[in-house]
Amino acid sequence: MTESKIHGLYFDGKSARPIEVVVKCGLTMDLLASDGRTLKKWRWDDLREEDAPPGFCRLSNDREHPLARFETIDSKLIETVRAAAPALQRKRTLEKSGRNKIISLILLAVLSLAGIIVYGIPAIASRITPLVPLAWEKKLGVLIEPQVAKAIKINPIGSYICSTPKGDAAVKKMLVRMKGSADLPFEPDIKVINHNMKNAVALPGGIIFLMKGLIKSADSPDAVAGVLAHELGHVNGRDSIREIAEGSSRSFILSLLLGDVTGSTVVIFASQALLGAAYSRDIERNADNFAIARMNEANVSAKPMADLFSVIDVRSKETEQNIFASHPLTRERIIHLTDSVSTSQNSPVLNTEEWQALRTMCD
Ligand SMILES: [Zn+2]
Repeated sequence: MTESKIHGLYFDGKSARPIEVVVKCGLTMDLLASDGRTLKKWRWDDLREEDAPPGFCRLSNDREHPLARFETIDSKLIETVRAAAPALQRKRTLEKSGRNKIISLILLAVLSLAGIIVYGIPAIASRITPLVPLAWEKKLGVLIEPQVAKAIKINPIGSYICSTPKGDAAVKKMLVRMKGSADLPFEPDIKVINHNMKNAVALPGGIIFLMKGLIKSADSPDAVAGVLAHELGHVNGRDSIREIAEGSSRSFILSLLLGDVTGSTVVIFASQALLGAAYSRDIERNADNFAIARMNEANVSAKPMADLFSVIDVRSKETEQNIFASHPLTRERIIHLTDSVSTSQNSPVLNTEEWQALRTMCD
């Protein structure tokens, strides 16, 4: 194979910033920075060709971030790559799901489009949510997370998550206690976020953001535990994916049709649909009912949770933007919550030391 030294662009999938690279084709496809440093050694087997206009080649890599891309318009390089990479044309989504599944998804997408015309978007969103494969929702959650971080102005990517050994242990203890016997569609992945906003949010696929601001303004661990139980209710109901299906129905259904939830446009549409959305009364009631069941099982009082919900921020001070399903708190909700949870044998979720560890995770 001949060595080619040609420029193309590399995107790491986490930021929109392109990196100019020189490509060296040999046993592997090497992406070199302009100073000669080897950035990536891509195995030919791992490469996939993504949709691109004619004359344009866009590659992804199975072992990289799902949105990582190499792009080039160099025809000689494109020729070399296409000759060297055997699995280039095999779509990841086609590999994983069988033919029948794809046919049923296409059918589903067509039916959904027809359904939107007949019944309108919200009714259809609720109907298609249970049919969205769990693996897709999980992948979408991972891809949406950085978009969400960007929207609430926390940077750089990755460093917004607070983690200490004792704090992590406290979060885990709280989760185990509040999850109880519930059979959730996803294993919850709770992230304590270094942000002053007093809020919590459930992203697709079981990711839950607990903001520092919320934890700091709580009087007791039981208050945080209650809000967490409510968020677990949103995970259980797959509410974020329903919200996305409603808010970005056309592109969402198009992505169902193409079997590609990792397309950047879909991810951007999806995060926009999630940002600024407010859950309906019914969805909030369901999440509350889930929380009530969990709190009764765990012998945790609902009063601190109701108090904490009343201080939740609807807007982010930093961005002056409506952030997320804001769990609108009505009088009806407070009464329902406090009346339904028995507080007779209340035992705190965390001891003083664990609570302190949770509160100081971002310090
Ligand atoms: Zn809620």
